[in-house]
Amino acid sequence: MILLNPGPVTLSPAVRQALQGDDLCHREPEFAALTLRICQKLQHVYPEAAANYQAVLLTASGSGGVEAMLSTFAPVNGCTLVLSNGVYGERMLAMLQAQGKPCLALSQRWGEAIDLSALAIELARQQISHVAVVHHETTTGRLNELDAVAALCREKGVALLIDAVSSFGGEWLDFAGWQPLAVAATANKCLHGIPGVAFVLARQDALAQPSHATSLYLDLLRYYRDQRQGWSPFTQAVQGFMALDAALDELQMAGGWLARRQQYRQRSAAVAETLAQGGVSPLLAAELCSSMLRTYHLPPGMSYAYLHDQLKAAGFVIYAGQGSLAAEVFRIATMGEITAADLQALQQALRQILAAGVCA
Ligand SMILES: *Cc1c(COP(=O)(O)O)cnc(C)c1O
Repeated sequence: MILLNPGPVTLSPAVRQALQGDDLCHREPEFAALTLRICQKLQHVYPEAAANYQAVLLTASGSGGVEAMLSTFAPVNGCTLVLSNGVYGERMLAMLQAQGKPCLALSQRWGEAIDLSALAIELARQQISHVAVVHHETTTGRLNELDAVAALCREKGVALLIDAVSSFGGEWLDFAGWQPLAVAATANKCLHGIPGVAFVLARQDALAQPSHATSLYLDLLRYYRDQRQGWSPFTQAVQGFMALDAALDELQMAGGWLARRQQYRQRSAAVAETLAQGGVSPLLAAELCSSMLRTYHLPPGMSYAYLHDQLKAAGFVIYAGQGSLAAEVFRIATMGEITAADLQALQQALRQILAAGVCA
């Protein structure tokens, strides 16, 4: 089965092989060495990050990484402004509310761009200490433009927290230019590892401050203290670490994030072209979208369930829309181990399904 959902992804043979490694206790030096190796590799995915950022690994899904970032760095004695134009922005706001942290939202309709003039007004009008934003809003596929957001934050001395769960490793993250306080991501999207391992790249100065954590498990400083020597306060997903280690090697050998973005773009463009020939239109213009995910309108009269089931019978798992978009759209992600032959088979399946026309 080829997974065209936005994580988890279809695994490569090397990553699958890594899962067959020796049993390993997380209190043994081999595990500490593995942890330190992964942190080093994560800090070098974007070489500009290596000088000023430390990776902190925890066992959780991507949301756990984001929640740990907010738990640790969003202050009780400040206010975090969440920029929201999709499900994952809304989720960050819900996390801050659950943590009892002061927070405000600047919300756009799903798929719309972040309103920079409204952001400038909010930053001038309110006492905002932190801004939290999603880089790639997986709800719609929109890649939020963070250059201007980061510039406004820098101008006001506001700290920037980024959910890069679905962009880390597949899009440009400007650590040197944006100077984010922290960036949260996961093993099982653009990095092609397995679910269960999340991580946060945090600026050194942030790691030297007291924690704002309202949770024991989601306190990154607790992890950081131990991880400097490779240890972890809690049992980690050992096999997930082994898979991520192998996946990061593969990323580097394949040319890093830039080559991966190029590959995703080519795949996404090929899918979009086939769909366009079949009369299927995208939700957003291609230039607004991330490299690895696009959202499309369902063909008139065709249900998501029908399209999903037909494609699944052909060996491909696509992804539904969320919330109010669920009845109208479907999503196709192009991350993971997808061969040229897989892509051709997908295009062929799409052509056949669309040509056969509408059935329920
Ligand atoms: C996938 C994703 C998450 C986390 O989802 P999990 O299901 O918890 O892994 C968070 N933010 C974005 C933008 C995502 O795409």
